[in-house]
Amino acid sequence: MTGRYGADELTRFILMFDCLLMVLSLLIRSNFLNSFCILLIVICYIRMFSKNHSQRYKENQIFLKYINRIYPKTDRLRYKLKQRVNYHIYKCPSCKQKIRIPRGKGKISITCPKCRNEFIKHS
Ligand SMILES: [Zn+2]
Repeated sequence: MTGRYGADELTRFILMFDCLLMVLSLLIRSNFLNSFCILLIVICYIRMFSKNHSQRYKENQIFLKYINRIYPKTDRLRYKLKQRVNYHIYKCPSCKQKIRIPRGKGKISITCPKCRNEFIKHS
């Protein structure tokens, strides 16, 4: 692999997409889809063994530009789901401010940091 470009984000994305297509092609048994999967693998190998680093880098940057428009939204969603495991999210009854409370503390009195309203909840 000396002097070769190797695997970048675009290559990994194509391989993941290819795996999904392979599973799909197993289910629907399409020759066209099988050929397309093989073509994607060939493209990945061509990219990984390429010595034209500047062109592969340019392609990867274009890919990252488009994927970064979508990815921050999924990152935020993943973070929210992670938070739900360890915390309860309550809304203040008067001002609707979201308040994060650790789980497993029993019945507690919560004071809203925004409007100082107090309410009791189970955590
Ligand atoms: Zn409040």
